[in-house]
Amino acid sequence: MVADKQTGAAVRRWVYRFGGGTADGAASMKELLGGKGANLAEMASLGLPVPPGFTITTEVCTHFYSNERKLPVDLEDQAMAALSELGLSVGADFGDPRNPLLVSVRSGAPASMPGMMDTILNLGLNDSTVEGLAAITGNKRFAYDSYRRFIQMYSDVVLGVDHGVFEEILDHQKSLHGYSQDTDLRSEDWHEVIVAYKSAVEAETGKPFPQDTRAQLWGAIEAVFGSWMNARAITYRKLNDIPQHWGTAVNVQAMVFGNRGETSATGVAFTRDPSTGEHALYGEFLINAQGEDVVAGIRTPQNITERARIAAGDNKSSLEAAMPKVFGQFVKICDKLEKRYRDMQDIEFTIQDGQLWMLQTRNGKRTTKAALKIAVDLADEGIISKDEAVLRIDPSQLDQLLHPTIDPHAAKEVVAVGLPASPGAATGEIVFSADAAEQLEKQGRAVLLVRVETSPEDIHGMFAAKGILTTRGGMTSHAAVVARGMGRPCVSGAGSLRIDYATGVMIAGGQTFKQGDIITIDGSTGQVIKGAVAMRQPELSGDFGKLMGWADAARRMRVRANAETPRDAKQAREFGAEGIGLCRTEHMFFEADRILAVREMILAENEAGRRAALSKLLPMQRQDFVELFEIMAGFPVTIRLLDPPLHEFLPHENKEIEDVAAALGVDAAKVRRRLVELHEFNPMLGFRGCRLGIAYPEITEMQARAIFEAAIKAAATTGKPVIPEIMVPLVGFARELDTLKAVIDSTAKTVEGETGTKLVYQVGTMIELPRAALRASEIAGTAEFFSFGTNDLTQTTLGLSRDDAAPILASYLGKGVIQTDPFVSLDTEGVGELVAIASERGRKARPGLKLGICGEHGGDPRSIDFCELTGLDYVSCSPFRVPVARLSAARASLAAKLKKA
Ligand code: PEP
Ligand code: MG
Repeated sequence: MVADKQTGAAVRRWVYRFGGGTADGAASMKELLGGKGANLAEMASLGLPVPPGFTITTEVCTHFYSNERKLPVDLEDQAMAALSELGLSVGADFGDPRNPLLVSVRSGAPASMPGMMDTILNLGLNDSTVEGLAAITGNKRFAYDSYRRFIQMYSDVVLGVDHGVFEEILDHQKSLHGYSQDTDLRSEDWHEVIVAYKSAVEAETGKPFPQDTRAQLWGAIEAVFGSWMNARAITYRKLNDIPQHWGTAVNVQAMVFGNRGETSATGVAFTRDPSTGEHALYGEFLINAQGEDVVAGIRTPQNITERARIAAGDNKSSLEAAMPKVFGQFVKICDKLEKRYRDMQDIEFTIQDGQLWMLQTRNGKRTTKAALKIAVDLADEGIISKDEAVLRIDPSQLDQLLHPTIDPHAAKEVVAVGLPASPGAATGEIVFSADAAEQLEKQGRAVLLVRVETSPEDIHGMFAAKGILTTRGGMTSHAAVVARGMGRPCVSGAGSLRIDYATGVMIAGGQTFKQGDIITIDGSTGQVIKGAVAMRQPELSGDFGKLMGWADAARRMRVRANAETPRDAKQAREFGAEGIGLCRTEHMFFEADRILAVREMILAENEAGRRAALSKLLPMQRQDFVELFEIMAGFPVTIRLLDPPLHEFLPHENKEIEDVAAALGVDAAKVRRRLVELHEFNPMLGFRGCRLGIAYPEITEMQARAIFEAAIKAAATTGKPVIPEIMVPLVGFARELDTLKAVIDSTAKTVEGETGTKLVYQVGTMIELPRAALRASEIAGTAEFFSFGTNDLTQTTLGLSRDDAAPILASYLGKGVIQTDPFVSLDTEGVGELVAIASERGRKARPGLKLGICGEHGGDPRSIDFCELTGLDYVSCSPFRVPVARLSAARASLAAKLKKA
């Protein structure tokens, strides 16, 4: 609040001043003053050379949009008072033809939105003040150049005249005189340009270019507030989760000129290298130029430091060499700002007649690699704590380090967009079948497997391929889950693609692609791109390890991996997994020789047939478990009993049907009849999970035996005790768990009798059905641990099939019905409430009940926050997500601690 001049009554304060060593605002007032305004105030208070000015608050923007684009009535008085004070402080007067004050009018939102909104420079120039400027500076050329720039910017931003109009006039003027550069124009040439510009504006708008400087100012202020709702700003906010209601502030600031001759310059700098993070000043500047010239790329900027100039082999002088005194002052200011903000700064500056002016500072954007190095260095330099360093890294950025990524500068032609199902980018020849993928890979060719959807039969091809692209299926479809587990990039559910296996073509973006054509997929964005694109390879540098070590020290929850093959388990250990939270045993049967035995087991008509098939599977299972226990020696391993959605395992093609028939010793017709019997309309909700073991206990018996025998063997080889955690899937009734636990316990007794070894193990369950969550206290009577299978729990809570969700969710996201894909980021309100209920009821019945999550959400930062708050003991995710989960768990722990404090 400020006092009204006449009445003395308190009125709302819309304007905050800065400059001359003081300021009304501070860095902490970003919400009200926007980032730029708050930081200008802070710099002014620190005594840095900041051209004086004032900030019109974001509350004015809110007022503007809630009052049919009208500014508050008392704003004008407050702003004009600040403007005359500003004039006094620089010894000039706004609109005074002899000694005109010129200002810039710039936007500045609470979150940085670079280039999204409008800026106007040199405001206050008209036909008479321009002559004053020329007289004061003794530089006509400079004054006219400034005026023509102002006409151009103002007409574009405020009056809506296309800037092409001005470019045409300027080009015409240059060719008339045979000039090639803007700098070739003399003052009289600029004068002619001004005359032409003004008549163009009049022709376009029907009115002369405004000469009243006050009208210019208010036109500019309204235009900058108006630019908050321009299309680019709206899109940028959507992409960056910036709320619309925040609004922008407007900064009005005395102009300083970098284009006043050879001792003037303008530039941008980072206090550390934003792409590598190296602790070295990094930046560019232009002598005799104004801000937009550096960005516009018309002239090639010069390096700020000698070091950078030499490294670039540039022969144009550095700032360090050209203006050593100013450079020295600048370096000191950079250092001061970095220490004050405790982060790498992105700085804009201008030098006017040898005097340095700071125009902006903000925390600089950086690559993930640089972010890691900067956070680690700042902690090592004692500027921030290790915990703060951990909080500085966005876990979702880590993907950039773990997988190849598309070079952000590469040109690309996107032909379709699907779901970003498994991160990383891959380029290869299109193949439409798993066998073709495998064959070509053996010849050393890079291939991408393109399928409508994948099934277990495609595993060998998925493994052989550099990446996987499907037209159907969501984020937890077979393709997505398996690709993530393998660390293969995957784009799933690219619904606009058409694949015709018969003719071997894919139609994308109106173009036809054949087998062998090269495409690129980006599993981090879902893009499908024509041809090859430049890539950046992953780098796990020392900083990564160091930061992850600090994260591990800060987190409460453990991080395990979902892994079933020795390769995945080893990868998981390398990424720091502390055990296995989910071994999907059905995934251990995808290999060609094994899938046949599984099919035999499923299709057998009686127990004897099933036992025959199971006896083939037992030694394979046992050996797999031995390897897993050995790799994970000293860490817990949770093995889930078989949970094959039948459609993923049944044979479809004639050859497969004949193979199973031969293995079963029956004819193919009989197998086909059995297939008809087993056909399900809704396999995801069908004969799977514990339902299999209840119907056929011999399956559970075989698996339990394989686990126990492997545990005994691995304990002997590693010298470390193995305590298997046996997990029963898709339980809804406590009796289901009791029934299977009885089978497991009796198998344990048998194995103990046979081997003379006492077995120690735990039996627990997945919570994947709403009924299980609600009846958790009963289930916890038997279960020694719960693991939330949030893939199924999401499917069953939402009543939305995992396999068919993609197009429905795409339309829901598009229409704003939901904000995020619930299969990616946990629906904390709905599914989350069930998780919370089950946790509470389960722990009440069995204090200390071990709780974990093993759905895909276990690797998602936002879902991990929820797990921390709900008190889960661990999260489990695919191996390549383990570092993301470790960092997210640490950040969640630190956030929870901060909240408590
Ligand atoms: C789950 O449902 O969350 C789960 C981990 O099991 P699956 O994805 O194998 O059904
Ligand atoms: Mg499940």
